[in-house]
Amino acid sequence: PPNEPPRRIRALHQDVVNKIAAGEIIVAPVHALKELIENAVDAGSTSLEILVKDGGLKLLQITDNGHGINRDDLPILCERFTTSKLKAFEDLTSIGTYGFRGEALASISHIAHLTVTTKTQDSSCAWKAHYAGSKLTPAKPGQSADPKPCAGRQGTQITVEDLFYNVPTRRRAFRSASEEYAKILDLVGRYAVHCSGVAFSCKKQGDSSSGLSVTSNASTIDRIRILHNSAVANELVEFTAANERWGFKSEGYISNANYSVKRTVLLLFINHRSVESSAIKKAVEHTYASFLPKGGHPFIYLSLEIDPARVDVNVHPTKREVNFLNEEEIIEVICEEIKASLAKIDTSRTFLTQS
Ligand code: ADP
Ligand code: MG
Repeated sequence: PPNEPPRRIRALHQDVVNKIAAGEIIVAPVHALKELIENAVDAGSTSLEILVKDGGLKLLQITDNGHGINRDDLPILCERFTTSKLKAFEDLTSIGTYGFRGEALASISHIAHLTVTTKTQDSSCAWKAHYAGSKLTPAKPGQSADPKPCAGRQGTQITVEDLFYNVPTRRRAFRSASEEYAKILDLVGRYAVHCSGVAFSCKKQGDSSSGLSVTSNASTIDRIRILHNSAVANELVEFTAANERWGFKSEGYISNANYSVKRTVLLLFINHRSVESSAIKKAVEHTYASFLPKGGHPFIYLSLEIDPARVDVNVHPTKREVNFLNEEEIIEVICEEIKASLAKIDTSRTFLTQS
């Protein structure tokens, strides 16, 4: 009723605020995994092993062989805005690593059971710690919450169990574990193509064979052959484009005019982060249209490096969207280069068949 006094404004309980913030960063298991992959790569790992149960809702575990975490940092590891990667706001413009705000582990600890086992080179043993709501928590009620020494190899193992256990509405929103697992394999496959020198494996818990596996010494084309197929791997051309004025360089592999599929496959990385861009996708499809049969689409793996000062990575909590200056001009340079490369191959093919 309009003549009732207004309700008083109250602050939300901190716990509610944290859960809301976490849910904005992590909408599905694949988003938690993306953060964990980026952390493992940031730590200099050359091997990432991923284990999944129930599409990541029951279990997401990633084991790396990176530099590990100091035992003394474990108490604040999952606090919000604790990071080893960013010190001042100005650093946001020159940050070279994936993570930048120290929010990923904090978020995960608010909506899942999180266990971290880690060993640095200098430490004589590994340390195991459990977290709930940003804080260290005992493994079992009544025990101490302090990290426990244990056996382990150098590197870090992050175990995320029962994701969204305390967000029942979100939990109920997942229809099928296999759909979530497919998203996970897609994401791991993208990083496995991009991160040369790093071995990747991903499988469902209990399965004897891997859903996906590449060795650390596999070349980029090998990786595409293993993760996609030989048909595309045999028809790839190396791609590079750069422009000083627009402050970018890019490299990758693109399919030639002999190859086409029903739907475009675009593996896009901007400053080593897997991102989506409908603008780039549309422009590339348009460029290919005059080289491919009607309804045919290309395979594109494109790694774009843009002067960090021109990129705004801070636009969206999930970091899936990246804004950058001169987007149109950069896309044009890339598409011109693709066109030139397709035309070159086209003529060499004509020449070969004629001779
Ligand atoms: P950010 O990556 O933005 O710094 P995170 O919450 O993802 O924030 O991680 C917090 C910190 O924990 C990182 O800065 C890093 O020091 C440490 N860390 C997280 N994962 C790993 C890992 N796999 N290996 C080594 N250190 C890690
Ligand atoms: Mg991170």
